[in-house]
Amino acid sequence: MSLICLIVVINLLNRIDSMPTKRKPKPEPGSEFIDESLVTTDGRMKTFKRWRFNKSECSQSALAEAGFIHTGKDTAKCVFCFKELEWERDDIPSEEHARKQPECPFVRLGQRDGYDLNVDEYEYLRSEYVRIAVASHLVEAAQSTVETMKEAMNAIYSEFKSKQQAKK
Ligand SMILES: [Zn+2]
Repeated sequence: MSLICLIVVINLLNRIDSMPTKRKPKPEPGSEFIDESLVTTDGRMKTFKRWRFNKSECSQSALAEAGFIHTGKDTAKCVFCFKELEWERDDIPSEEHARKQPECPFVRLGQRDGYDLNVDEYEYLRSEYVRIAVASHLVEAAQSTVETMKEAMNAIYSEFKSKQQAKK
């Protein structure tokens, strides 16, 4: 029994090795930081195209000041903690950000414009960004490994089944 297990594992590992990787390689986590232009409110403002809540508390300038860039129709994402939220007219971006993401490094620094940060604060923002980016990258890598394992297992099983049928 244990010999069969060993053969299955070896077979599995060989298959995983030889499988083409479907995902294109991602940039090194953290290497995209800090798109320096997005550290400032001005830079984040430029990402907004046809934002429909501009005549309310939830304007594009309020969102940009609170660390967000435009990512979809009514969605915007924090550049520093990657939290993407769907917004409504009555939302107050700085309050929502602080309430939903109290651990966000930008929130912890008081949601201040990049120009107002000193070197230590900037470095803090940067190192936290890398830490969060690496953590989310690892979760994705683990999920993709599980998927590959499932595919390999299914391939071995269907080969086994067709051999069994051939014997009959
Ligand atoms: Zn954030």
